[in-house]
Amino acid sequence: MRIILLGAPGSGKGTQAKMLVDKYQVPQISTGDLLRAAVAAGSPLGKKAKSVMDAGQLVSDDIVLGMIRERLAESDAKHGFILDGFPRTQVQAQALDKMLEELNWPLSDAVLFDVNFEAIIQRVSGRRSCPRCGQIYNVYTSPSKVANVCDKCGTTLQQRADDNEETIRKRLNVYREQTEPLIEYYKKQNKLQTLSGDGEISAVFANVCKIIDAMN
Ligand code: AMP
Repeated sequence: MRIILLGAPGSGKGTQAKMLVDKYQVPQISTGDLLRAAVAAGSPLGKKAKSVMDAGQLVSDDIVLGMIRERLAESDAKHGFILDGFPRTQVQAQALDKMLEELNWPLSDAVLFDVNFEAIIQRVSGRRSCPRCGQIYNVYTSPSKVANVCDKCGTTLQQRADDNEETIRKRLNVYREQTEPLIEYYKKQNKLQTLSGDGEISAVFANVCKIIDAMN
């Protein structure tokens, strides 16, 4: 399976992707996670990306495409992958099509998480994540058992620098302008599957799995 998870920031892509990794044993490829790792490592790429990410804008297509090209070349991508947060622009979508064509790895589908934008603001401001294992929590809807401590590995949870209301609103605008057109892009390719991302994590997960199982 080679799928794209499409949807606004905070629509649940990352949370669902992590659950899909466990169930289907294919890697999650999140450009946001790759960029945050580069920022944490203090690499030149990370230094360049940090201010753009903190401002809620998109990192340049060139940087993101270079990262994806490298990541797809790793051996675990051979048997499939879940793209999370990529592509985000038309240029990225076209470049991805080209890469996959060259590899002779046709895309299965793009799954769109349709979520009410006002709910996103609350969701994202409550989001906390584990810097060690990547587990995602929400202080309102899915808190950790002990406040601010990861259930899985005991690490202190963090809030992302870009998960504040002002930046979330900017990220939603960027999504509307640059990423939403991809819905039409994949619809035209007959590869778009849409589901509601509102509601319980487990209910959304059941629906994503239904879509994936029907694909295979
Ligand atoms: P995410 O974790 O997917 O919400 O991404 C966090 C931030 O990383 C975004 O707001 C962008 O600044 C940057 N980013 C992640 N993925 C991409 C992408 N495909 N293209 C450009 N910027 C990206």
